[in-house]
Amino acid sequence: MPFNAIEVAKDFPILSRTIRDGKRLVYLDSGATSQKPEVVIEAESNFYRLHNAAVHRGAHQLAEEATDAYEGARAIAANFINADVDEVIFTKGATESLNLVAYAMGNAVAGNRFHLTTGDNIVVTEMEHHANLIPWQQLAARTGATLTWLSVTPEGRLDLSNLNQVISEKTKVVALTHQSNVLGTINPLDEINKRAHDVGAVVVLDACQSAPHMPIDVKTLGVDFLTFSGHKAVGPTGVGIFWGRAELLAELPPFLTGGSMIENVTMTTATWAQAPKKFEAGVPNMAQAVGLGAALSYLTKIGMKNIHDHENKLTSILLNKLAEIKNLKVVGPTTTQMRGAAVSFTLGEIHPHDLGQYLDNQGIAVRTGHHCAWPLTRKLGVPATTRASLYLYNTEADIDDLIKGIVGAEKYFG
Ligand code: PLP
Repeated sequence: MPFNAIEVAKDFPILSRTIRDGKRLVYLDSGATSQKPEVVIEAESNFYRLHNAAVHRGAHQLAEEATDAYEGARAIAANFINADVDEVIFTKGATESLNLVAYAMGNAVAGNRFHLTTGDNIVVTEMEHHANLIPWQQLAARTGATLTWLSVTPEGRLDLSNLNQVISEKTKVVALTHQSNVLGTINPLDEINKRAHDVGAVVVLDACQSAPHMPIDVKTLGVDFLTFSGHKAVGPTGVGIFWGRAELLAELPPFLTGGSMIENVTMTTATWAQAPKKFEAGVPNMAQAVGLGAALSYLTKIGMKNIHDHENKLTSILLNKLAEIKNLKVVGPTTTQMRGAAVSFTLGEIHPHDLGQYLDNQGIAVRTGHHCAWPLTRKLGVPATTRASLYLYNTEADIDDLIKGIVGAEKYFG
C-alpha cells in the first residue's frame, strides 16, 4: 500500500483527541517525543497482562514467555539497524547509553584500548545535545583527557576545515550527533569516521534524531557505537538501544554491575558475561523493550524509506512556506539537502516562549527554548528558538495550521 500519512495518523489514538476547547491537535514536537500507535500500547500492556515475569531467571512458563518476548524484541531491534543480535543492548534511553559508554571508558584500566589519561583527547561537536556533551565533559574531568570540538558554521553545518587538527593522534573518542535536534542538519559521517579511524579513535553516534526517521545500517554507517531512544521512535519511554561492534563490546568494561551481567562470582571477585548481558545489570525494562519491539516492527512495516521520503517532502513544503514570512529566520539549513525534519526558527522580536504559547492556544504543539543544546544556541546568538519537528503522522494540513498560527502570532504581538 502506498504511504498515506492521514491513514497512518489513525493508528495513533492521541492524535484524534482535541485540545484547548475543542481544537484539533497539531502535534509538531516529535523531536522531543513521538506519539505511540495502538500496537505499541497493546504490546506493552499485554506483556503485563499476560506474560510478566523476570526474564532470564525463573524456571516457569511465564519466565520463558517473558524471555522470548524480550529477546524477540532484541532481534527486531537488531534487524532495524542491521546489527548482529548480541551487539544490541537495551538501556533506559539515549542519555543512559551515552553515560554507559562514557562511564565504561572511565572504568578501563591501563592496557585496555578505552583507557584514557592525561594527554588523551575526546572530540565532540558544538551542535551536541547535552546528553552527548556532558558525559564527555565529565569523562575528561575524571581522566585528565582534553575535550575539543568541531564548530558550527553560520549556516548550521559542521566546520570540517580543521578536521585534521581537531581530531589528532591524541584523540581516543569522537562523539557526535547524526542529526542535530535543533538545526536539523545531518552530519557527513564518512569524512569524520575516516579521520577518527586513521588516528585509532572510536566514533560514538547519537542517532536519536536519525534512527526513527531514516533507514540505518550499522554495517555500512562506519561508526563504532550508536544509540537512540525508543520514545522518539513511536516506542515507550524508559527504553533505548545501545549498539556497539562486537569486538569493542568485548573489550569495553561494564558500567553498572550486579545481577544478570556476571559469569562467575566469589566473595571478592566477579567475571563478566558477554555482551549484551554484560551491559544489562538487574531485571531489565522488559515491558518497555517489548513495546519498543512492536514500535520498530511497526516502523519497519511502513518502511523507513517511505517515512524518510514523506518527512523530506513535508520539510521542503514547510521550509518554502516559512521563507515567505518576512521576519522569520530559519536557524539551520534552508534546503532539504542533508537535513531532517526538525526545523527551528526565530520570528522577529517575538520571544519563542510567547510564540509557543500563542500556537498552543491554537492547538499547535511546538517546542521552545534552547532544546538541551545551550552551547549551540549561544553560538548562534539566539536566546532560544521555536522548533517544529515532523514525523510520519504529520500532514500538509498540519503545516498549513502552523503557518496560519505564525502569521496570527505576528499580528497579535505586532
Ligand atoms: N540526543 C539528541 C540529539 C536528542 O534530541 C535527545 C533528546 O531530545 C537526546 C540525545 C536524549 O534522549 P533521551 O532524553 O531520550 O535520553
